[in-house]
Amino acid sequence: MCLCIGFCIKCKEIAIRTLISVIRMETSTVFISGGYEIEGRLTEGSQPGGQLTITTEVDNFPGFSEGITGPQLMDEMRKQAIRFGATAKFEIVTNVDFTKRPFPITAEGQIYTADAVIIATGASARWLGIKSEQKFMGFGVSACATCDGFFFKNKEVIVVGGGDSAMEEATFLTKFAEKVYIVHRREGFRSSKIMLDKAKKNDKIEFVLNKVIEEIKGDKTVSSVVLKDTQTDELTDMNIDGIFMAIGHIPNTQIFDQINKDDVGYLLTEPDSTKTNIPGVFACGDVQDKIYRQAVTAAGSGCMAAIDAEKYLEINSD
Ligand code: NAP
Repeated sequence: MCLCIGFCIKCKEIAIRTLISVIRMETSTVFISGGYEIEGRLTEGSQPGGQLTITTEVDNFPGFSEGITGPQLMDEMRKQAIRFGATAKFEIVTNVDFTKRPFPITAEGQIYTADAVIIATGASARWLGIKSEQKFMGFGVSACATCDGFFFKNKEVIVVGGGDSAMEEATFLTKFAEKVYIVHRREGFRSSKIMLDKAKKNDKIEFVLNKVIEEIKGDKTVSSVVLKDTQTDELTDMNIDGIFMAIGHIPNTQIFDQINKDDVGYLLTEPDSTKTNIPGVFACGDVQDKIYRQAVTAAGSGCMAAIDAEKYLEINSD
């Protein structure tokens, strides 16, 4: 039923979009392979282009006065990186060993070696973690309105969350759905005022506050949910055709055991730098940024990583 769900599950399980010399942050590939005769390799993983490929309009990336779609932006970045000589490959990195030099990196059974590595594996959608959510993934439960919204033409759907993603997904879904309910666990919102106001002004969107989804019900596909009031614990049934999770992301860092992480799993980098605790290994973008998480800030830190990696290679070359 839904390509993207399979995509996201795979992404979550395998949890990698990694690099050799340079990963997924195409802007850094452009930089590193463009000026310094360094062989750049871009390993694109199970969701080539990353989260931006499941985004609609990107309005805050400099240089696009009318905005640009996420997939278009990522496609342009990939072409730009290739124009400067980077090799881009759709493959999944399953193992890295930062105790040996050059670093061995296993992707699809093949072992590559790299003198420097930039990790730009990003983050994946967070799920509620209830049993019935797993059961209906791809059958009414999704984390990507752009990919699956079309299947809910003239239907009623829930978007879970109170951040910018929830507002964006809900607004997008009104193109297809007859009614969109934003179910949020409290009365305050994390989202920016502008995006919240846009959702509030949309006649098709209704807010259901102080509620969490306790259970998802249905036969083959979703038909209803049990909502629990976060203040009174009261349970209510609500008929619904689809549920879109927009409750944040988890960094894709599972294979990077040798790199220092914070308590959530984000890679730690030195202040004002992309250096990790392993010399020659750098991290940029959402995999190390839990605050800004914008396309433009990720691209900026990708450029920083490219500069840091280039300096490292220059100092450590024979
Ligand atoms: P977020 O800001 O972390 O918001 C996540 C929301 O989900 C919060 O409201 C949180 O509730 C709720 N939540 C988390 N776990 C939950 C659970 N288990 N059950 C129920 N609710 C749960 O994540 P985001 O909306 O994905 O945004 C991430 C970043 O991307 C932000 O910096 C945002 O500005 C940016 N972004 C920007 C755009 C744009 O500019 N176009 C679009 C999307 C995202 P609480 O508030 O109660 O914790």
